[in-house]
Amino acid sequence: MRDVTKVLDVVGISKSFGDLEVLRDISFQVQKGETVCVLGPSGSGKSTLLRCINWLERPDAGQIYLNGKEIGITTGGVVMGDRELSKIRTHIGMVFQHFALWPHLTVLQNLMEAPVQVQRRPKAEMREEALALLAKVGLSDKRDVFPAKLSGGQKQRVGIARALAMKPDLLLFDEPTSALDPELVGEVLVVMRELAREGMTMVIVTHEMGFAREAATRVLFLDRGRVVETGSPEQFFSNPETDRARQFIQRYA
Ligand code: ADP
Ligand code: MG
Repeated sequence: MRDVTKVLDVVGISKSFGDLEVLRDISFQVQKGETVCVLGPSGSGKSTLLRCINWLERPDAGQIYLNGKEIGITTGGVVMGDRELSKIRTHIGMVFQHFALWPHLTVLQNLMEAPVQVQRRPKAEMREEALALLAKVGLSDKRDVFPAKLSGGQKQRVGIARALAMKPDLLLFDEPTSALDPELVGEVLVVMRELAREGMTMVIVTHEMGFAREAATRVLFLDRGRVVETGSPEQFFSNPETDRARQFIQRYA
């Protein structure tokens, strides 16, 4: 067993698609309660990194540990089957750019579905919890509405609440606000800021530099598949060490 105060331990992950080396020897750790923001130009490998963390993408080399337990490889050293991987993934919440809520279920049912069906949690108890989560993301009045009736920002907030309903140990966000109209970005960031403040453990890919600066405990800057810089947001934004990071900050921040 590894140190379990590390919720996530990424050790030497590499990944290629054909001849294209997308991730090169990436290592970092996330302690319990940290908000790590992953920044970097388009195509630098951010989404692939998130997908490797929960083995939606199989890394070519390296290891991923969640709470000290290796993901993807069994203790016998063979690749895990889909069932075992699915089980591990229930501990890792994901929020994507385009969040697919179940269209035929109401907002409240969307939150209750997986906890009740997959985790076998009691329905009455789960309902209370789902209502509390909807209050938390400011959508109590939408509980009986179908997703088609929601704005993009409201959908993302339901998506976050749905991920939280599984009581994940780790939440991964892949540009959760980049498909939203500018006026809807703020309401989603408010929820994410609150989660950071409460000490939810999160890895967030974002182009929202203001958010990263305020809410991140640590920033990881990726360029061409490598971690080029890592450090506190103050250090990264005020005093970047590389030209690549300086150019990136000038462009986005
Ligand atoms: P980012 O999220 O930082 O924009 P991605 O991880 O999406 O970067 O992509 C990194 C590189 O890998 C890009 O050049 C992209 O085209 C390529 N890539 C991503 N997924 C695949 C795939 N499934 N097959 C082939 N190439 C891919
Ligand atoms: Mg991406």
